[in-house]
Amino acid sequence: MWKKQKIFESLTPFTLLDFENTPSAILWFSGCNMRCGYCYNPEIVYGVGNFCFDDFSLFFDERKNLLKGVVLCGGEPTIHKQIIEIAKYLKALGYKVKLDTNGLKPEIIKILLENTLVDYVALDFKAPKEKFEIVTKTSPEKYDTFIKTLKILIKQNINFEVRTTFCDNLLTVHDVKIMMNELQNLNFIGNYYLQNFMYDTKTIGQITQKNSINLSQELCDLDKYKFSVSFRNF
Ligand code: SF4
Repeated sequence: MWKKQKIFESLTPFTLLDFENTPSAILWFSGCNMRCGYCYNPEIVYGVGNFCFDDFSLFFDERKNLLKGVVLCGGEPTIHKQIIEIAKYLKALGYKVKLDTNGLKPEIIKILLENTLVDYVALDFKAPKEKFEIVTKTSPEKYDTFIKTLKILIKQNINFEVRTTFCDNLLTVHDVKIMMNELQNLNFIGNYYLQNFMYDTKTIGQITQKNSINLSQELCDLDKYKFSVSFRNF
């Protein structure tokens, strides 16, 4: 049944960029439970699904000795409960599975972790509590849901990263410092990536200005954090 449901936007057959040291395919799930202003994937976020897993299962069967991993991303993959069966199927074939998520479905993430169905997680930290609604266009209490996921990941001791897209139309340097302090308080000790918003005309919030702030030059004293901080595309 789950194999027949059209929940995918597309499949990227090969990437070396999205899963470290793991030649992978990318499964793009349709739909999302956020509407971030800087999102450059409106077709996927508003998409209703072009493909079902059966459209790709032969691909995964045939590539199991060529590819090492599969990245589950979107959109937001965890809004589809079929992700559990999909991850089981891929793990049974021997793939490593990476999940990209915004963290609003802690109950699904918990099941994936408890059943060792994912090998690596990239968790988006969108905004501090005060800005969460503005940045994600969700309700304010969704921040607490995100924190619940973050705590689950920290407790499970799984290999995972936290990442924030910095768009100075939506966040300030002060906001980023608040988020870093939150990570510190929760004893996060992994990698925290700060990604530069890359201007694109197709963003959901129709953001048309490039960042004028170079975050990598604004943040200092990074040694005081228990986690490592890296900058992407600054
Ligand atoms: S950037 Fe935001 S709206 Fe776009 S896919 Fe990610 S969570 Fe959804």
